[in-house]
Formats: sequence, structure tokens, C-alpha cells
Amino acid sequence: MRRRIVAGNWKMNGSKDLVQQLVGPVREQAGRLDNGAKVVIIPPALYVSAVQAEAGDDLATGVQNVSQWQSGAYTGEVSADMARDMGCGYVLVGHSERRQLFGETDETVAAKVEQVLQSGLTAVLCVGETLEQREAGDAERVVATQVIRGLARVEGESWSQVVVAYEPVWAIGTGRTATAEDAQAMHAEIRNVLSSMKAPAESISVLYGGSVKADNAAALFSEPDIDGGLIGGASLKADEFISICRAFP
Ligand code: 13P
Repeated sequence: MRRRIVAGNWKMNGSKDLVQQLVGPVREQAGRLDNGAKVVIIPPALYVSAVQAEAGDDLATGVQNVSQWQSGAYTGEVSADMARDMGCGYVLVGHSERRQLFGETDETVAAKVEQVLQSGLTAVLCVGETLEQREAGDAERVVATQVIRGLARVEGESWSQVVVAYEPVWAIGTGRTATAEDAQAMHAEIRNVLSSMKAPAESISVLYGGSVKADNAAALFSEPDIDGGLIGGASLKADEFISICRAFP
């Protein structure tokens, strides 16, 4: 069985106050979920310890990025080993904002995935097409290429540490969500691509991200190949995030 996951990507938002207001209520509800979903909070790296202090054992934590290198003279970088050392379980890799604003290529993404897996953490590989690519009928090819190249160094047992998040760029922060049908179609395609890579596709969780809210999560999470969500804006509001965590059928 695939794991259901709801992960809140805070992006570069948050403060000590937000940690205090939000994490306790989310933990209280996450501990009582009867749908088996794993709830993950992914704050800016500086706040991971503060989140963990409030999260107890009911919530997992992660970081939004790691270095492609393990340690050494790389000022400003944080390694996957450090994320593990600080108790994180998850790392986002290749988020579209990192690809677009920080020049991450499929090659750097693959190197980061490798670091994350070597550290024993779960890599959440983020993939997704731009509006231009979708309108040109190129969405499937773009996403397939990102999956194949991003996961090029994964093999054997370490596939169990891989999660894929499909986040169409045009749906991120725009209020415009993919329809449940369109998202399902892409998720099924991602699973086909994983199968073609000899990955255990049926056991890899594929999450949807892009303007997931309390009022559209249930339709998305009802689709057979959508195993949960990667939530941006709505993860900054306790009530809304909790509703999303409850939205599985
Ligand atoms: P929004 O939910 O704010 O659209 O962000 C999605 C996202 O990028 C999560 O990683």
C-alpha cells in the first residue's frame, strides 16, 4: 500500500509566532487522523527545531532544499546529513521555484536526490510543466523528462525513499488548481514512467500540489493515483491545513 502524505511547504514564510500558533493545533488533530495520512511540516530550515519542539511524534518535519554536496567549503549551504542529524525525515528536491529562480537543472536535482537517499531521508521530487508547455501540448513529455532525469541515480531498495510531487507551475500560488481529472491523468502517467524505469511504481506515493485548499482537496484525494498533497499557502493556516489533512475518502 502507498503511504498517504500531506506536506506543508511554508516556502520563505513563517516566524517564531507562526510556529507557536500553528504547530500545536495541527499536531493535536494530526494525532487523531483515522485516515492513515502522514503529516509533514516543511518550514524554512532555521525553524525546523522550533517546529519539532511543538510537533512531538505526531508530525514529521522536512527541509525545502539541500546541497548537492555533503560537507565542506560551501558557504550558505545545508546538507542532507545535517537535515537527518536534526531529525528531519523529508527533503523537497527540485521545487519549481528552485528550478526557475535558482537555476536548478535536472542534473543538480539528480545529485541532490542522491544525497538525500544516501542520508537515509525521503526525497520528494517536485515536477511540473509551465502554462506555456501545457498549452503547447508538451506537459506529459516535460514531466516525464523531469522524472526520468531527476531520479536517474535511484536504484534498488532506495526507491522506498522516493516520493514524487506533481505541481503544475501554472497552479502554484495562483488559485488555479488542475481539475481532479487532469491531475489524475498526469499522476497515472508519472506512474507509467516510474514503471518504465523499473521502479516499484505501485508503491511510490505521488502527491499533487498547486493551490490545494480545504474546498478542493477531497476531489483531488479521491482520485486513485493521487496519494496526498504538497500544500503551500493553505499550510500557513491551521484550520485549513487540518481540513486538507482530513480530506481523504
Ligand atoms: P500553493 O499551495 O501556495 O499553490 O503552493 C504549492 C506549492 O508550491 C507547494 O510546494
